[in-house]
Amino acid sequence: MQILLWLSNNLRLHDNPALNTAVELAKEYGNDARIYPLYIVDPTDPWPMQGARRWWLHQSLEKLGQTFGEYSCPISFFKGEPSDILNTLIVDATQAIICSADFCAHTEEQQAKIKTLCDSKGITCRKRSGALLFNPYTNTNKQGNIYQVFTPFYKHSVKTHPPSAPQDTPDNESLHRHLCKKSLTNSVTLNELNLLPTQNWADNFQQHWQPGEQGAQGTLNNAISDVIKQYSNDRDFPAKKGTSQLSPHLHFGEISPRQIWHTVANQLSPEDNEAFLRQLVWRDFSYSLIANWKDFPEKSFKSRFDNFNWKQNDKHLLAWQKGLTGYPIVDAGMRQLWQTGWMHNRIRMVVASFLTKHLRIHWSEGAKWFWDTLLDADLANNSAGWQWVAGSGADAAPYFRIFNPMTQSEKFDKKGAYIRKWIPELSALPDKYIHAPWEAPSVILKEANITLGKTYPKPIVDHKAARESALAAYKETNEA
Ligand SMILES: Cc1cc2nc3c(=O)[nH]c(=O)nc-3n(C[C@H](O)[C@H](O)[C@H](O)COP(=O)(O)OP(=O)(O)OC[C@H]3O[C@@H](n4cnc5c(N)ncnc54)[C@H](O)[C@@H]3O)c2cc1C
Repeated sequence: MQILLWLSNNLRLHDNPALNTAVELAKEYGNDARIYPLYIVDPTDPWPMQGARRWWLHQSLEKLGQTFGEYSCPISFFKGEPSDILNTLIVDATQAIICSADFCAHTEEQQAKIKTLCDSKGITCRKRSGALLFNPYTNTNKQGNIYQVFTPFYKHSVKTHPPSAPQDTPDNESLHRHLCKKSLTNSVTLNELNLLPTQNWADNFQQHWQPGEQGAQGTLNNAISDVIKQYSNDRDFPAKKGTSQLSPHLHFGEISPRQIWHTVANQLSPEDNEAFLRQLVWRDFSYSLIANWKDFPEKSFKSRFDNFNWKQNDKHLLAWQKGLTGYPIVDAGMRQLWQTGWMHNRIRMVVASFLTKHLRIHWSEGAKWFWDTLLDADLANNSAGWQWVAGSGADAAPYFRIFNPMTQSEKFDKKGAYIRKWIPELSALPDKYIHAPWEAPSVILKEANITLGKTYPKPIVDHKAARESALAAYKETNEA
């Protein structure tokens, strides 16, 4: 008897409801029941996994393969449309297919097809979610509506449905007995999925990250001992290690948000854990938006922004992508992203505001670049983050809130440590001028070995003029 366990976004053993369900069913079916874990790379996904995350996925699958290997169980790999692949995998012995919920339109369509297929063949089909703290479809206000504002969403969720406890990993004996000992027919190898980038761009990632369930647990432990107590004070300062850096682990499901919630809540007092846990709930809020407004990644939530006078300027877009705008805090963030596959949250807001307001380029262009380059690129969080900054999202910052790159930099990177780290060509500038090098007298620039326009760009737009022009465009949209 065979149980097909489609792994998708839950690449772990601990608190993995899909795996637990598979083991429960296997026990029910008897000693001969075998669970076949499988991973499918889906080229039909309209939001296919790109560069940075493909690197992570390869490492993560390799690590998970080693874990299943301890039970002599291989993971089977496939490329294709999941419903087609699963259709071809069904044999007489197939009793059940277990999927993990991920709430995006494309996966849900695939899962609906799989359910129909199973129903037509008399096979059990189960969908389990271990990716969120709360159910995004049932977490509604008194009128039965989905929340569009974070604070009431947060209060309601935490008070009325506190996250349930994580599930234990299935016992060793059951795993030894029920995990399969051979791959499925026509499975390819992990290397044949061709996930690793061909350029050496991803080589740096290895120094910064440890993908896999063990790496995720280590990251959580470090966050508990070194980060979360000071989170409310340190989280906005990009030169400090003031945030957990759990985001790629959470995205790939190497750790469950429930486990994070309960471990943090058990080990730290409410005073020390509240700011962090509240931030974790933003992730659920983003998922609630994407689950209930399926076109959220493509369309401005506020339709008023459909008529906004966005600009198309490839030169400006490229300068932003390469970290060559002439605004140090923006450029530092874009270079951190390119070199490490991650960017600090405060700086994500600054660079997103710069793109959508100073350069007036559509938020979707920024979201696409993040999609390709972030290791934690997540359809729900990325779409929500961009729409929040652009002003077009639910509960978004108003469009007229335009981040001033110099003020942000002076406030959150006063001594320029973050800027100097990512823009070494500015490292010799005194603190006074690090936030706006164009204001430095020529003798200071010379002493610091800087020629603006040559060794570091002049600002590609004038801050004041860009700000006024963005506000005027917004006013026009409002009046239209
Ligand atoms: C323009 C923009 C794009 C973004 N794109 C993504 C993305 O693709 N993937 C992604 O995971 N996050 C995204 N974020 C949210 C946030 O920047 C990251 O989750 C955070 O920086 C990750 O670092 P951390 O794990 O150290 O976070 P911590 O501060 O330690 O927070 C812990 C966890 O809580 C969640 N979280 C924290 N802040 C937010 C937030 N504002 N919104 C939603 N969840 C949050 C994350 O899962 C995070 O790992 C984006 C934000 C902006 C402004």
